[in-house]
Parts: sequence; C-alpha cells; structure tokens
Amino acid sequence: MSISAADLEFDQRHIWHPYTSMSHPLPCYPIEAASGVELQLADGRKLVDGMSSWWAAIHGYNHPRLNQAANSQLEKMSHVMFGGITHPAAIALCRQLVDITPAALECVFLADSGSVAVEVSLKMALQYWQARGEKRQRILTLRHGYHGDTFGAMSVCDPDNSMHSLYQGYLTSHLFASAPQCRFDDQWDEQDIAPFAALLEQHAGEVAAVILEPVVQGAGGMRIYHPTYLRRVRELCDRHQVLLIADEIATGFGRTGKLFACEHAGITPDILCLGKALTGGYMTLSATLTTRHVAETISNGAAGCFMHGPTFMGNPLACAVASASLSLLAENRWQQQVAAIEQQLKQQLLPLAALPKVADVRVLGAIGVVEMHQPVDVAQLQRLFVERGVWIRPFGKLIYLMPPYIIQPQQLSRLTDAIGAAVA
Ligand SMILES: *Cc1c(COP(=O)(O)O)cnc(C)c1O
Repeated sequence: MSISAADLEFDQRHIWHPYTSMSHPLPCYPIEAASGVELQLADGRKLVDGMSSWWAAIHGYNHPRLNQAANSQLEKMSHVMFGGITHPAAIALCRQLVDITPAALECVFLADSGSVAVEVSLKMALQYWQARGEKRQRILTLRHGYHGDTFGAMSVCDPDNSMHSLYQGYLTSHLFASAPQCRFDDQWDEQDIAPFAALLEQHAGEVAAVILEPVVQGAGGMRIYHPTYLRRVRELCDRHQVLLIADEIATGFGRTGKLFACEHAGITPDILCLGKALTGGYMTLSATLTTRHVAETISNGAAGCFMHGPTFMGNPLACAVASASLSLLAENRWQQQVAAIEQQLKQQLLPLAALPKVADVRVLGAIGVVEMHQPVDVAQLQRLFVERGVWIRPFGKLIYLMPPYIIQPQQLSRLTDAIGAAVA
C-alpha cells in the first residue's frame, strides 16, 4: 500500500489530526514505515526521529522483540473481556509494574490511554474520600500542567490556555497554585513552595488530591523544576492528609534519567499514572497504580467497588507488548543511554542560549528544550526539518527533542544541528 496524491487530498478533506483545523489544515507528511530511529517518507526519504512519537517509542520503531511479543499474543488471542476473566499477559505486566514502581504501590488499574488513567486517578481520589465519609471534591494542581484532553483531565490542565475559556461553565473548577520557578539545577529557594503551601492550607478540608507532573511539566510548557518542590508537596500532602497523584505519563520509564521522575525527590505518590512509553509506543495502554490502603478504603465504601471498567481493559495485545517493552528496558542499559543523550544534548543545545532569538535552553535526561522569544511558524520549520532529514515537531515557542533511547551520537547530532540551523 502506498500513498497517492488523491490519498493526501482525502486526508486533508476528511480526516482530523491532533489540534488542527478542518478548514485550514496544516500539511501532513506521509510516513509508510519506520524502523530503529528512522521514519520513512512515501518518497523513500528517511527522517531521524526526534520525538519518539510523543514520548512513546523509547526503543525505536519496528523492534524485533516487540514485534515478536505482538505476533505471538495475536496467535493466542488479541482481546478478551476483563470482566470475570484474567489472562497471562495482564498478570505478567502487572507483576512487572508492581515490581518496578515504589513498594507501596500495589494495586494496578489498566485502561486505554493517558487521559483515561488521569480520569481514573481523580475518580479514585473522590471515591476514597466518599468512603471515608468526607465531602472532598476539589483537586489542587499547578499552573502550566498538562494531564490530557478528556473533561476531568482538562479541568486540571493549565487554566490560561484556551481550553478553560472554551469550556467555561462546563469544566469543574479546581485550585491552581502558581507553577514552580526554581529550576532543576538552581539552589533551592524555600519561597518557591510558599504559594502552594498557602493554597493547600486555605482549602485543606475540601481538597481530595493534589495532581502534578513530577519534575518535568510536559505539554504545558516543557518546564523542568526543582525536586525539592516535589518533596515539599509530599510533606504538605501528608500534613493535610491529602492524596498525591503523580502523573508520570510523559516522564515515566527512564525519560528524565530516573526510571520514574518521583525518584529525583525520593517520594512515593498515593496514586501513579503511567501511559505513553508503557507499550514502547506500539499501541495505546495506561496504568493507574495505588496503595493497598487507598484501594481497600475505596472497596469498603458504599459502592463496594471502584466504579470504572473500560471495554478494552487489560487488552492482551497491548499488555503483551508492554510486558516485552519493560523487559527490554530492564536489559537495555537505559541509564547509560539516557545519560549519554543528556550529555550530548547539553553540549550541543546549551550554546544556542546565546543566540538573540532564543529565550532559554534546558536539558534533563533524554529531553532537550529550546524556548524561543516568539512563537514559531510550525509549517515552515517542519519543512526545513524534513529537508534536513529530521522529524521534529515544535509547538508554540518551543522546539524540543525526546529521541528514542537507542539513538546513536551522529543521529542525535543531526537533530541538534537542524535545531541550530532553525534558530540561527
Ligand atoms: C500525554 C499526556 C497525558 C494524556 O495521555 P493520552 O494518552 O494522550 O490521553 C496525560 N498526562 C501527561 C503528563 C501527558 O504527557
């Protein structure tokens, strides 16, 4: 199967892409195959991938081990309902998840996507307090956060982006603390936590949970903050008996240099959301983990159970691939790979901070961010990147990289060179 001009025309006229206009669609590039760190265009040209398909394809594309896991599960069964049935793929995956996450997180809820994992975490927090006989229904979160596109998730995304004004009156109103200012490598400033502490104190009796992205705020601005901020949040949640939800959908599985970003602060959340890289970028799957205490409190409440159960819960194909992806992660020396990427990104991106159009450059683990003073022209920049043989998708003022961990130094240099050329 190959893509014709008529196909592309059909796509423009009939198919919605993420955050795009149906009347003035931006151009889409036809990709027919992908392998290792390269995406192959319909005309045969190959692009070095700098995005890991939005944090997901950590092992690269078309990986023999992941293909094999999918194929052998396919031959047994691709799906079976999870109500009243269990299967080896889900059990193997959940064993691994319980094993690699903090010890207190024992109970796993599998769902379809990151946004649904966030919905599940919010519902867990609400049912927890309901079971304890307290009416706590507000969520406290940070400005510049991003937690997904469904209504519950949107209600805790940054309130100043267009989503909240668009859906005003429909979204639940929650509490927003100003975003952390202290950067990852800065000297910690105790004042940084003061606004959060004050807000939590003021509303303690009505707050069910705090939700945040630990250490790296992703789609809400690619901001990287001080781990002590997170440690203070944990202390304050303990003091006020508020649940802490860590959304590690973007940061999980090694991306920040630790297996989970919470490890930078040495904390354990009460609820942990995972997604994106969970299946190595093969298909959609998410997991929400919680403590036995939270799980049992919910289960002993009036409802007698947790009220959620998606049709494709625990999909065997997705579980089998996720399980293989976690095994690969364990074998693949991701720590050395991510550390090497971090070092090279620092070497090649940090100097760009001196350029007049560049506002800031920041790097953590296998994440490199160049923030411009002005929003960039996405269509024009993408054309330039594709001409240079790389796949990088900027948004707003941000041009950023989060390559597959298997990327080679010369491939990574092509990505950073392309960014250098674009911002010069
Ligand atoms: C991408 C993302 C989500 C939403 O995940 P989807 O699979 O797109 O629904 C939620 N939280 C964070 C931090 C994310 O990066």
